[in-house]
This record gives sequence, structure tokens and C-alpha cells, in this order.
Amino acid sequence: MIAPGSRPVSDQGLDDVVLPFAVEPLDVRGRVVRLGPCVDTILSLHGYPAPVARLLGEAAALTALMGAALKLEGRFQLQTRSDGPVDMLVVDFDAPDRLRAFARFDAERLALAKAQGQSSPAALLGVGHLAFTIEQGADLSRYQGVVALAGQGLEEAAHEYFRQSEQIPTLVRLAVAESVTGAGSSWRAGGLTVQFLPEASDGRRPPDLAPGDAPAGVQIHDTPEDEAWAEARALAGTVEDHELVDPLLSSERLLYRLFHERGVTVFEPRPVRQACRCSDLRIRDMLRQFTPQERRDMIGDDGRIGVTCEFCSTHRDFDPVEFDPPAEGFTKA
Ligand SMILES: [Zn+2]
Repeated sequence: MIAPGSRPVSDQGLDDVVLPFAVEPLDVRGRVVRLGPCVDTILSLHGYPAPVARLLGEAAALTALMGAALKLEGRFQLQTRSDGPVDMLVVDFDAPDRLRAFARFDAERLALAKAQGQSSPAALLGVGHLAFTIEQGADLSRYQGVVALAGQGLEEAAHEYFRQSEQIPTLVRLAVAESVTGAGSSWRAGGLTVQFLPEASDGRRPPDLAPGDAPAGVQIHDTPEDEAWAEARALAGTVEDHELVDPLLSSERLLYRLFHERGVTVFEPRPVRQACRCSDLRIRDMLRQFTPQERRDMIGDDGRIGVTCEFCSTHRDFDPVEFDPPAEGFTKA
């Protein structure tokens, strides 16, 4: 039976979208992200070894989930610095929808870690810190939250961040998969955040995806706070990695599977796409910051200054004369 005000669950699987939702009876809000071509492009541009791609895919999903909290403008950045074979990850989300990312790793240490069976995403990070930087508002005011990485991986570190910095009970799940078909292989990433926000639930509206198992006419009672969060966590905790990355399972269907007993309200989905900030203009501006001597040191064997963007691997090269014209009289002689 479909409750008044609700509609059937959509089975249309949409990639590269963050879907916000609420489970009002449990005072819970959250987001589901499903990344297909967006994360596949990011990872393929770099040609990372699979374990590195898997880790960066997790970071991309987490960044999309957290960045989607920004309004129409602002920036969100995830950055790690740690002592594992992958010593740095940087993922940028530029509201409303742009995502870019890169990883820095030591190939020898990575090969060793693989040989020793120590190449899980958490093991590749090792010990260090994870920083989230948010810039928003008209003046792009900056906020940074930092949590320790101690071998626990991104999911656990994100829990830690929400506990410390925002003091919101939060569950985060992340999954990445490489799907191999006859046509080749592609990367997918998915994730889920669930947050307990008791104050945000006034003005309740009926769920879009109505209670499934509750018998018709049964009144769903208000649930005390900690019980509500315990129930939400237990329900969300049943989500499996393969469900988060399954292209045939729509985000709505996934939410319905998890929360159908309570009913789910879904909000406007937010698209995400791979896009870099780099441009000829920005690279030129960057090169102008160096001294003429520094620029001379950058000139390659081909007589040009080559710059490769570490985020999107786009290679550009420039004529050094553009920045440092030869002295008058020298070329005209
Ligand atoms: Zn770029």
C-alpha cells in the first residue's frame, strides 16, 4: 500500500548523483552518492594501480557526500598526509557539482605492500592526518577540521571528524568496485551518510517512499532519541558494499531496502561531474609568480616550459619568451 502523499520507488539507476534523504520518524538525514563515469574518468586520467584507484575512489565518494552539503557556491577539500605507500590524497569539490582528485604514492612501497597482502585502502594510508577544508559564503570564509589517521581508513576517520568537529552522530559507508566487462573495465564508487539531527525534524511531511512493512492503519509512534539513532544506525549498517556500487540498484530502491519500515523522504538529487579548475590562464598566472631564473630552470629539452596538471593530467607547454622577452637588440641584431 502506498501512503497518502507518497509515490512508488523509482528503479531508475542514476550515476554521478548525490541523493539527499530523510527518515523523519527517526530524526535522521542523509545522502547517498553513486559515482560512475565521473569517478571512472578521474581514476582513468591518472592510470593509477588498482589499490590506489580504490582508495582514491573512496575519497572521491566521501568528498561528494560532504561537498553536497554546500549550497550553490563554495569549496570543499579532503586532504590526507600520512606515512603509508599513498602519502597524499587531495580531492576538491567545487559547488555546485565539480569534482577532481589525485593521489601521490611510492610505487616501490606499493608493490611491497601488495606482495605482503597489505594493500587495503586503510593500510595504504597508514598513520597521519585527514583534513577537511570548507570555504563558503560571500567572502569564502574558511573552516578546517583535522582528524588523526591511525590505520583506521577513511570511513572511520570521517566518523571521528563528525564526532569531534560537528558533534553530530554520523554513520559513513563507502565502497568502490572495478567492473570488468567485455568492453573493458570501469570504476564505480558509492557511499552513504546517515546523521542524527533531532532539531531538524520540525515540519514533518509524509515520506515519499512510504512505510512498506507497517500494516495499514498502524500509527508509527515517536521514538526516544537514543533509540531512534540506534535503530537508524542498525538499519543503515546493513548496507552491503555491492549494493552501494550496483548500477542496477537505484538509490531510491537502496534507501527503500534500508528504511522501508519507517518511510523515506527524498529530496532534489544533485549531479556531480569530473571537472578541473586548471586552464591556460591559471597556469600562465602561476608561472608568472616565479623569478626569471626559476623559469629558465623549467625549460625542457624542447625549449619550452611544460606543465602537467596533477589533478587531471592535462599537459600544457609554453614558450619561455612569453614570460621573459629577450633583451632589446638581442634578437633584432
Ligand atoms: Zn587540471
